[in-house]
Amino acid sequence: MESLQSMNYELVVGLEVHAQLSTQSKIYASDATIFGCEPNTNIGVITLAHPGTMPKLNKKVIEYAIKMGLACGCEITRYNIFCRKNYFYPDLPKGYQLTQDKTPICMGGGIRVNGQHGEEIYVRLNRIHVEEDAGKSLHPEGKAYTQVDLNRAGVPLIEIVTEPDIRHSADAATVLTEVRKIVRFLGICDGNMEEGSMRCDANVSVRPIGSDVYGKKVELKNMNSIKQVRQAIDHEVSRQLKLISEGKTIVSETRTFDPVTGASFSMREKEDLNDYRYFPEPDLSPVRVTEEWLEAIKKSMPELPDTLKRRFLNEFGLSEADASFLSDSRDVASYYQELVSFTKNYKAAANWVMGPLQTLANEKGLSFSDIELKPGKLAELINFIDEGKITYTMAYQQVFPVMLEKQNISVASIAKDLNLVIESNTDALKTLIQQIACKYPDKVKEYRKGKKGLLGMFMGELMKETKGKADPKIATNLLKEVLEETS
Ligand code: ADP
Ligand code: MG
Repeated sequence: MESLQSMNYELVVGLEVHAQLSTQSKIYASDATIFGCEPNTNIGVITLAHPGTMPKLNKKVIEYAIKMGLACGCEITRYNIFCRKNYFYPDLPKGYQLTQDKTPICMGGGIRVNGQHGEEIYVRLNRIHVEEDAGKSLHPEGKAYTQVDLNRAGVPLIEIVTEPDIRHSADAATVLTEVRKIVRFLGICDGNMEEGSMRCDANVSVRPIGSDVYGKKVELKNMNSIKQVRQAIDHEVSRQLKLISEGKTIVSETRTFDPVTGASFSMREKEDLNDYRYFPEPDLSPVRVTEEWLEAIKKSMPELPDTLKRRFLNEFGLSEADASFLSDSRDVASYYQELVSFTKNYKAAANWVMGPLQTLANEKGLSFSDIELKPGKLAELINFIDEGKITYTMAYQQVFPVMLEKQNISVASIAKDLNLVIESNTDALKTLIQQIACKYPDKVKEYRKGKKGLLGMFMGELMKETKGKADPKIATNLLKEVLEETS
């Protein structure tokens, strides 16, 4: 089979990502945007395009789009107009989609990720623009009709368009994962591809290595998971290479990929002159983004994953893997940050979050923000271990489960109730040692005559008495002290 390597070709990919913004209401109407409602329940007169109705822009939509732009280092367009993109489709009641044509809200910028070999890749963005979603056509199997659900019509979207800077299908998946991470961090989209709140089209072409012109591109549509995007690109590469090796030409077209059969089908050939008759929407006034507004938006932004990760690396001395894990989601990152405000043991804190807490979250299907155990409480346990009062194993196996049940008892009293606190009370230990010495007078004599190896045997007895909880260092000193006393 032909491969990129065997033909000395390279892959070229550009992504178009649609992210549904998680505003309460639609972009130009007050209808709710909740996913999964009964069909056609969130459809007011504006969504239905009744005559005489006028759109009114939801300010939050612009704010969310700007947040994404700032996160990606884009230039923010100060003067925005909206355009009608005219086309006919049953799920589009107005007969046009309101979108940004000449004035996308964000220009330039890019997404930084690590490629498959750890190398840094910067994928430039062409633009991010705001638009409205269309409704959904449902084609019941075996029926001769189509149903239309307009709940989604008018739900706000941003479309993030990358330059064709991606060279591997794995990197396309990484870029998409990063986009999802950023929108989730910003809280502007839930990033759920299965429910369609994030959708991705991949534009794919191939060219001989060294060539400086791009090949004809094929647009792959309707993929609903990151894994599927990667599979579809791989499949499309093979298809294109096969055509080339057979001397055939590649047609610019839109194709859809079926992950079950692993085959793709042509949906339509790309018409170069698709006439959407764009023109400015007369019922919406232009939107000006003022300096004050932009500043206010900047101030409201959380620290982004990339910055967080670098801070975790530098400030807390974590490893690359730990820093990545802890900056992967906002919930985890804020839990960790609060935790380390109570303990200086950054590494132990990281281990507790990545180990026991992550396990707990997975088992219970919780997100970190739902975990009831307060970071301050967990820090109490970490510090208790660090003070040598208890071992990690005891803490994890015995104290931690109790803490999850009862929040308001101190770690010290849980440990005490469970009889786990390591004995470092010298008086108590000394009495115990004296009792042991009385039990073995002959051994004490031998020790005093120079058989120092017997110390181990006394230590064993002491550990038996204290159920292993005596602090070994303190115990050794006390043993020596008592045994060497001349009676
Ligand atoms: P169109 O006019 O067909 O919409 P654009 O130039 O606007 O094409 O690009 C749309 C998307 O396709 C962008 O993500 C871009 O990076 C990508 N793209 C453009 N040309 C190519 C190519 N030759 N191969 C792969 N992707 C491409
Ligand atoms: Mg285009």
